[in-house]
Amino acid sequence: MEIRVWEAPGSGAALQSSSRTVQEPAAGEVVLEVLHCGLCHSDLSMIDNAWGLSAYPLVPGHEVVGRVVAVGDGVDPALLGDVRGLGWISGSCSHCLQCLGGDANLCPSLEATIVGRQGGFASHVTARQDWTISLPEGVAVADAGPLFCGGITVFAPLIDEAVSPTAHVAVVGIGGLGHIALQFAKAWGCRVTALTTNLGKAEEARRFGAHDVQLLEQLPDLAGRFDLVINTVNHPLDWPAVMASLAPRGRLHQLGAVLEPMQIAAFDLIPQRRSVTGSPTSSPASLLKMVEFCARHGIRPQVEHLPISQINDAIARLRRGDVRYRFVMDF
Ligand SMILES: [Zn+2]
Ligand SMILES: [Zn+2]
Repeated sequence: MEIRVWEAPGSGAALQSSSRTVQEPAAGEVVLEVLHCGLCHSDLSMIDNAWGLSAYPLVPGHEVVGRVVAVGDGVDPALLGDVRGLGWISGSCSHCLQCLGGDANLCPSLEATIVGRQGGFASHVTARQDWTISLPEGVAVADAGPLFCGGITVFAPLIDEAVSPTAHVAVVGIGGLGHIALQFAKAWGCRVTALTTNLGKAEEARRFGAHDVQLLEQLPDLAGRFDLVINTVNHPLDWPAVMASLAPRGRLHQLGAVLEPMQIAAFDLIPQRRSVTGSPTSSPASLLKMVEFCARHGIRPQVEHLPISQINDAIARLRRGDVRYRFVMDF
């Protein structure tokens, strides 16, 4: 099958359009004709080989919404025509302990959509059926792509850790992830505080669901306040102040890929039973729950649409933080 892709020929390079031939879907796989694909910070990290995982030419794009146009053996042909989302993960083994236990996102033989395979900045992308999620009525097709990486990343700490609706939740960073996290935490029933370095975003943060907006530098004044801090930023914070802001049994959940070690002292953890956790997106079951939750509560990413022909403009703008709050490329 002949398809079109937008690929980086080398580390940090601009994407170029080219055609390539791909195989028919294998057993258990579906082919999506890409309709929309969000641009995530992880695409930049992969284009730049910041994590040492990249193989070139690299086709990024892992916030896909597409229509099923071909199915492999064992997939119900009734899926043809269905509009589905695909995120960071495109396949797992489905027979290991983690897959069988409902933690397929922790599968040791996980396939990531843009690691060693062709991603969603393409006319078509292939994935395992169970990692493509049908969009329920009430979820806007054109804006849904960012839910499948950014969205599930911030839904995971709520759904997978069974956070109480009485919890006081702080979201650090009002960006691609944070603006969705605020909506989820508000709809969850929580008391929600947005922590930011830019009070210019305060009004929007309140619209997304924050009850309070505070400057990050004021964190030392907020000691003992939060049951859960969801940190979406990928640069070092004043870690002792973050830990001190947690209530007894409070938890810091780290989602931003900070490359430097995080300085956490034993006595940040022991006396008040505080903890630090992290998570890599979530399982297909949590994805299904997330899209239904979004439909029920009217949660949607705030996106700026651009045609795929302007992908390099979108990348340049994302690199300088010039986006509110996610680019979605249209095909
Ligand atoms: Zn597995
Ligand atoms: Zn992503």
